Amino acid sequence: MTNFSELGLTDAILRAVTGEGYTVPTPIQAQTIPYLLQGRDVLGIAQTGTGKTAAFALPILQRLSENPRKAMPKSTRALILTPTRELALQIDEGFKTYGRHLNLKRAVVFGGVSQRPQVGALRQGIDILVATPGRLLDLMNQRHIDLCSVEIFVLDEADRMLDMGFIRDVRTIAAKVPTKRQTLLFSATMPSAVDGLVKGLLKDFARVEVTPESTTVERIAQRVMLVAKEDKRSLLGDVLKDSSVSRAIVFTRTKHCANRVAEQLQKTGVAADAIHGNKSQGARQRSLAAFKDGKVRVLVATDIAARGIDVDHISHVINFELPMEPESYVHRIGRTARAGTEGIALSFCDASERGQLRAIERAIRQSIPVDVTHAYHGKVSMTGGTTEEAPQRRGRNNRRGGGGGRNGGGGGKSWGRKSRAA
Ligand code: AMP
Repeated sequence: MTNFSELGLTDAILRAVTGEGYTVPTPIQAQTIPYLLQGRDVLGIAQTGTGKTAAFALPILQRLSENPRKAMPKSTRALILTPTRELALQIDEGFKTYGRHLNLKRAVVFGGVSQRPQVGALRQGIDILVATPGRLLDLMNQRHIDLCSVEIFVLDEADRMLDMGFIRDVRTIAAKVPTKRQTLLFSATMPSAVDGLVKGLLKDFARVEVTPESTTVERIAQRVMLVAKEDKRSLLGDVLKDSSVSRAIVFTRTKHCANRVAEQLQKTGVAADAIHGNKSQGARQRSLAAFKDGKVRVLVATDIAARGIDVDHISHVINFELPMEPESYVHRIGRTARAGTEGIALSFCDASERGQLRAIERAIRQSIPVDVTHAYHGKVSMTGGTTEEAPQRRGRNNRRGGGGGRNGGGGGKSWGRKSRAA
């Protein structure tokens, strides 16, 4: 097994990686980093959740810091294009974390917010810019940024960018980046349009591919439980009465909610603990160890805190609140069904979360069966169109307790599509 120090990374970067608690590189990291450090172009076939951000961020940080050069005003040395605001923020956060012992300037730009602070951030010139295509083009057209000194160009989630209608923007932007550069393109799938981009933009590239997560998703029995917000805690209590729920992760959207749910469970005698970004690394590791040892049966977590959790034999993933981004759903439920086992994912959905449920179903290209057997089903008004409307889906998987119910077909080969325009 490769470790990070064998990949040729410098001490400042290794320290940041170790500080994050990473011990071994993920397959995409082990395969990609050496090529990128050599300056090669890379086509990476991998999706979010595989560790691909660090796969490109670590070598970019290293290459930029090894050749220090003051960026010219209104220019950037590395440009990372990504389809959504959420991904842009996540990638920028990755650069911040992994580059914490280096002295490189970053900025992130995306649409839907005022451009003024973004313009300010670009003025002095920066090293790393993470951008969504629409806002970047706007800023280019207003001459707030010039791509003439880009040395490294990354196209992240290329298939999704094309799906979202960004192909022309991407081509326009790529045409403004100097041809003498290093180019990386990441895509979960390789439709012919992406192939066209690869041929047009990459030179003498290395191709790296990791197994898609969807193979795991197909092994997970997914069910949705329609419930009023105020009944979610009682429903969780009921679900946990079933002894087949032997080791569960409960996901919430906020740290506050994670704490409240964990406290409530502890009060009712359930061995539970919360992990989230407000807890120290030490506290998080202690909670994780107790969960792995079986001393804690239920771990309540936020998406961010749960990243990188790799615990075997998690019987259930319970979405106490649905995530805003469909990809997070796939990451969450992928915590169960590890190491070839099957797993169960239950999602509590209240009336305000119906839109998120539909987005998830579109993304995984499956409809998630509705559990009609729990005590709170039917107590909640779901008017205005819900999954419940589809009568053929009702009762199809109404086995007892928290388990059962293989979701109905649909393939679910790709996900994370058409979520949100930048
Ligand atoms: P990404 O596919 O880049 O979104 O990565 C998913 C998450 O995996 C990241 O947020 C990291 O916290 C985590 N991660 C990345 N690399 C590693 C690693 N080598 N070991 C453990 N966790 C990692």
